[in-house]
Amino acid sequence: MTLSAAQVEKLRKLVDGRVVGADDPDWDAERSAWHLLVDQRPATIVHVTDADDIAATIRFAREHEYAVAAQPGGHGATDAINGTILLRTGDLTSIDVDLAEGVVRVGAGVRWRDLNAALTGTGLSSLPGSNGDTTVVGYALGGGLSWFGRKYGQAANTVRAFELVNADGYQQRVTREADPELFWALRGGGGEFGIIVSAELELVLAPQIYGGRMVWPVEHARDVLRAFTEITANAPDELTLWAWLLNLPDLPFVPEPLRGKWVTAVDAVYLGNEEEAEKLLTPLRAIAEPLDDGLASVPLSAVGTIAQEPDDPTPGLLKSVLLNSFDEEALDALLEVTAPGSASPLFLFEIRHLSGAFARADEGHGAAGSFEEPYLLLFGGIVPVPELAGAVAAAIEGVKAKLAPWISGRTLLNFASGEPLADIFAPEVRDRLRAVKQRVDPQAVIRGNHPIV
Ligand SMILES: Cc1cc2nc3c(=O)[nH]c(=O)nc-3n(C[C@H](O)[C@H](O)[C@H](O)COP(=O)(O)OP(=O)(O)OC[C@H]3O[C@@H](n4cnc5c(N)ncnc54)[C@H](O)[C@@H]3O)c2cc1C
Repeated sequence: MTLSAAQVEKLRKLVDGRVVGADDPDWDAERSAWHLLVDQRPATIVHVTDADDIAATIRFAREHEYAVAAQPGGHGATDAINGTILLRTGDLTSIDVDLAEGVVRVGAGVRWRDLNAALTGTGLSSLPGSNGDTTVVGYALGGGLSWFGRKYGQAANTVRAFELVNADGYQQRVTREADPELFWALRGGGGEFGIIVSAELELVLAPQIYGGRMVWPVEHARDVLRAFTEITANAPDELTLWAWLLNLPDLPFVPEPLRGKWVTAVDAVYLGNEEEAEKLLTPLRAIAEPLDDGLASVPLSAVGTIAQEPDDPTPGLLKSVLLNSFDEEALDALLEVTAPGSASPLFLFEIRHLSGAFARADEGHGAAGSFEEPYLLLFGGIVPVPELAGAVAAAIEGVKAKLAPWISGRTLLNFASGEPLADIFAPEVRDRLRAVKQRVDPQAVIRGNHPIV
């Protein structure tokens, strides 16, 4: 249910930020998320300008028996936020870099492209993922699978402190020392435990980055995927490879030779120099001449564009599954089910190599923990009109069935799309998260996109 006009007016008097009500002309644009297929229906929307706005909104929500949910961009939108007062944090854009300490403090609205740009040239980095448009805080709350994660682990585990407003509307600094259990829960358990105002993250060394995308005609998919498995079987933690099968759209932004075609590609990021990287990539260089070879020295500011993902809101239906292995039989199964060149409604298959530091357990980790599956498979299709959703969903199920022998059954919070919590967290992690939720927010005033129930 949306707030009444009188309630919207009352809330407007309590905060500095813009409050958007259901009667406002831009309501539909304001309530939509990056994920266009999620038709989310909040009670109202507040563009918070600082911690005081957040606190005032939480107190208002409690008084009127609403929950609140933060959503900076909605790359991870689900319909769990329906009926909540939605907090847009896009105005919280402060970035304070302390090179001597090796930490950065970011406001909850800071996007990866801005943090990457701010750190370019320093030789230090945080742990960015594939997409510059996602926020550092939203990503780190859900784990954070970075290009540099094989070397340094998940972003959540590098958070040193959170400044948040708690479910009672009070500001709180959460560190390992101040509240070890809440600190643990926030680092990978999602946005259920408080509204984050800012986070402090440890920086890592990244003085040299070499990488980019190589693209081949789809006829070479088997050779490319074989080379990918061969390299990833023994890759040092400094090297991260993601392999793709892509049906590129017949649209002007795609370069002419690739437009409207199935292609196969490999994205590479190496924390080191060209010579060392090229030595490791020899099996890929033995394949036919690529259609496009984008490997080069990469400034940190360009890392979020390597995977060439859309920044604009997208009506995509995507699934991600962790794989226990990716062997020759899995490769056969994938090529059979993807049938490049066929009329499959799926246009994207991406295999991310994991392992390395992702798999190394450490008792100092947060709820994101570590995981042993060596690969993540992401796949899906675009749903330009709602009538196509069924066909894309059925094709996704077909891929899951075909690859069932390799699928571990678990997925990662940041990549979850409707899975039950049991598929995301081990039972003991789930129980621990529930205990923290019960302690800090017994009335469930704070709502994340994946509620801890
Ligand atoms: C194209 C694309 C590429 C991606 N690539 C990667 C990747 O490489 N690695 C990876 O790990 N993930 C990746 N993701 C997933 C992404 O990290 C999540 O969607 C994450 O939620 C960040 O997106 P967002 O900033 O838009 O947050 P939103 O989707 O807006 O928010 C997600 C959730 O985070 C919580 N939250 C956010 N801000 C706050 C706050 N201030 N206080 C409390 N809770 C908060 C809330 O629960 C909210 O529902 C990708 C997603 C897409 C769509």
